[in-house]
Amino acid sequence: MDSRKDGKSSQPRVLSRRTLLRGMAVTAGVLAAGAAVGVSPMGIAEAGKCPGTTPKTAVAYQDHPNGGEHCATCAFFIAPGCCKVVAGPVVASGYCKAFSPKMA
Ligand code: SF4
Repeated sequence: MDSRKDGKSSQPRVLSRRTLLRGMAVTAGVLAAGAAVGVSPMGIAEAGKCPGTTPKTAVAYQDHPNGGEHCATCAFFIAPGCCKVVAGPVVASGYCKAFSPKMA
């Protein structure tokens, strides 16, 4: 029996099929609502949802290529405008010192 003073269970939370299906329905609804109001994947990037955390200044990010090297050909690039390394939105034609070419 759980007898925590805060009233919360110390039992590990197990997702039921009903909870999982409800979560999927909510996710689908949010995506549909985003599509209905015209929120693009780039809008998500602009909203700060990109996974990268390294400040642009730390890797000398620039919004133009370095010769033939640019974000669109980097292994860390997430189209259309995110990076797995650098924080915030990036552009496909950008470049930084963390550039790593995509494997062919
Ligand atoms: S060049 Fe830099 S900013 Fe662009 S995708 Fe690669 S690591 Fe990210």
